[in-house]
Amino acid sequence: MHIYTLKEWWKEAPSVRIFRFKPKTQKVQFLPGEFLFLHALENGQSIVKRPMSAASSPEEEELEFCIKMVGGELTSRLEKMEEGGEVGVERGGGVLAYRGEKRIGLISGGTGIAPMMSILRYASQKGADIAFFHSAREEKTVLYKKELEKFGDKAKIVITLTRGCWESKGAWICEEGRLNAEILQKHADTERVWFVCGPLGMCKAMKEALTSLGVPLSNIKLEGWG
Ligand SMILES: Cc1cc2nc3c(=O)[nH]c(=O)nc-3n(C[C@H](O)[C@H](O)[C@H](O)COP(=O)(O)OP(=O)(O)OC[C@H]3O[C@@H](n4cnc5c(N)ncnc54)[C@H](O)[C@@H]3O)c2cc1C
Repeated sequence: MHIYTLKEWWKEAPSVRIFRFKPKTQKVQFLPGEFLFLHALENGQSIVKRPMSAASSPEEEELEFCIKMVGGELTSRLEKMEEGGEVGVERGGGVLAYRGEKRIGLISGGTGIAPMMSILRYASQKGADIAFFHSAREEKTVLYKKELEKFGDKAKIVITLTRGCWESKGAWICEEGRLNAEILQKHADTERVWFVCGPLGMCKAMKEALTSLGVPLSNIKLEGWG
C-alpha cells in the first residue's frame, strides 16, 4: 500500500469534491482509466477501503480523485480530513484501462467522469484522436467544466444537459436532452474504441446506442457504479 497525504480539496459540484494527494514516498503505478483502492487509515492501519477511479494522469506526481460524498464509511472520513491527512492507495485495475488506442470515444455521466479525465489528460498529451461526451442534469453539476474548456483544441468535447444548455464559448458543444445515438453520431465518427462510465442505466443505454451505430462489442469498454 502506498501512503499519500492530502494536499488540497475543493467542492466541484453540490455533493462532489475533488481531492488532490501527494505521495509520501513512492507513487502508485496505474494505467489511465483504472480504479485504485482508496483506504482510510487509523494509526497507520487500513480500516476501510473502497474502489475509486484515479482522475489524474499516471504521469502526474500527484493523485486526484473526484468523489461523490455519499456519507458512507470512507466518504464521511474524507469529509473530515484536513490538509496533511494520510490515506492508503493500492492499484485496482478494471476494464477501462487505456492502452494507447489512437482513436477513442469517452462517455461519462456524473462522477463517471473521473476515469475519463485520467484518459483525456493522458491521451491528449500523446496525440490521440478523442471525442468526449459528458452527460449532466444542469450546468452547475457539470464536473470539470473549466478544465474541459481547455481541451477544446485537443479533443471534441460535447456536454449534454437534460435541463437546458448554456451559451457555448466554442471550446465545447452543448446539446440539450439525454445523450443518445443521434448525438453521438452527429459529433463523432464511431470507428473508435469507446470507454463508458456512469450510472448503470446510462451504461446500458450507451451500449445499446453504440451497437445500434454498428460499434462491435469488442470496441466498447464499460464500467457502471451504483
Ligand atoms: C470500479 C469503481 C470505481 C469507482 N470510482 C468512483 C469514483 O471515482 N468516484 C466516486 O465518487 N465513486 C466511485 N465509485 C463508487 C464508490 O466506490 C462508492 O460510492 C463507495 O461505496 C463510497 O464509499 P463509502 O464508504 O463512502 O460508502 P459506503 O459505506 O460503501 O456506502 C455506500 C452507500 O450506502 C449508504 N449507506 C452506508 N451505510 C448506511 C446505513 N447504515 N444506512 C443506510 N445507508 C447507508 C451510503 O450513504 C452510501 O450511499 C467507484 C466504484 C467502483 C466499483
